[in-house]
Amino acid sequence: MEKTHLQQINSWIYETLSLFGEHALRKNINIETNKRFVRRLGDAQWLPNKQVGIIRFSENMWPFLSEHERKVTVVHEICHIVDSKRGGSREFGGHGESWQELMIACGLEPNRYAAVRVPAELKRKIKKHEAKCVCRTFMISSIRRTKMLSGDRYRCKDCMQLLQLTEQVKQVIT
Ligand SMILES: [Zn+2]
Ligand SMILES: [Zn+2]
Repeated sequence: MEKTHLQQINSWIYETLSLFGEHALRKNINIETNKRFVRRLGDAQWLPNKQVGIIRFSENMWPFLSEHERKVTVVHEICHIVDSKRGGSREFGGHGESWQELMIACGLEPNRYAAVRVPAELKRKIKKHEAKCVCRTFMISSIRRTKMLSGDRYRCKDCMQLLQLTEQVKQVIT
């Protein structure tokens, strides 16, 4: 990720933590970028035993986001960290009332999904679909998936079971 983007991320983190009177928490938060994220803009994890937070942002999507979308993503994840640290509820994947209140305090809508336009060059990456047999998971192409949907069958060479499709392409989640 570009240095200016990282600086921007850092200043939003500091700003958000300060708003909650949690600026001392900054040293407990590790920022990582993830090159494989194409379906989500970021995620956050709080390890209560270590009192450490890990936030990951999508290296792929970042250049395609508007400044506002970047900020929303950073604040969204920081709200997860603050919420978890304060013992917030885990319902709705951590997007319950206590997390929503933090987002609103930041002047943002507590949305779980970002209506981000995924650029064509990344869409191809997203269009890997999961298929399973008994023994393992395969990532298959859109072309193969279309063939399976129209009746083609593929067998795993190890367990000899037919592959089953397991998911659809999801929206981008922050
Ligand atoms: Zn198998
Ligand atoms: Zn979230």
